[in-house]
Amino acid sequence: MLLKSRLLLAGLKDPKILLALGAVTFISIGLFLLLEIADKQCPKYKISYEKAAQLLETCDILAKKYNFEKEEGLAYTETFDEILKKRVLHIPREQINSNNGQVCYSTALIANDLPKFAKKYIAVHESLHLSRESNETKANFKAGLKEPLGLVQTVFYSISLNTKVMFSKKLSFKDNMCKIVSMYRLFKVYFLNMDLANYYEWEW
Ligand SMILES: [Zn+2]
Repeated sequence: MLLKSRLLLAGLKDPKILLALGAVTFISIGLFLLLEIADKQCPKYKISYEKAAQLLETCDILAKKYNFEKEEGLAYTETFDEILKKRVLHIPREQINSNNGQVCYSTALIANDLPKFAKKYIAVHESLHLSRESNETKANFKAGLKEPLGLVQTVFYSISLNTKVMFSKKLSFKDNMCKIVSMYRLFKVYFLNMDLANYYEWEW
């Protein structure tokens, strides 16, 4: 312990290490400030009653298509293993709004293109929602404890999907910037306990 703190102190006295630490801190703060400024320039996501109704209808259609119950709260009394075993369904990503996962009534729908560990992680994450954990950051960390590799794989896979969209469509500079901002917003929702509702705006 003493040796460790001595080594640390010696390290801090080394100008090269100090410079590197300073540079990392400087770049992190700069990046954070840039993202915060960009965040203010990008519009909130608009949601109308029609869109909300459409989302409900999507669940309705999926319930018929995949034959699951249209009732909420069915998983409340079940153990976590039971939920994972009988309430998780893997379906094509485009059917769930390009999300990694989504809850419809008492069923967790998981995008079937996800890599192996991410699939497990998202199944645990959505199952936590089914057992009353509505907070995204808490669901994220609780699921991360069970499937740490899956959490890391999900983060990288999501970034790669978003980046592909950025390069495949010819987006304007602002649209590209807002795409990066949308990832930053997700980071704040899933890791920093920001309420997703902050980024939505009702329009009618
Ligand atoms: Zn979630």
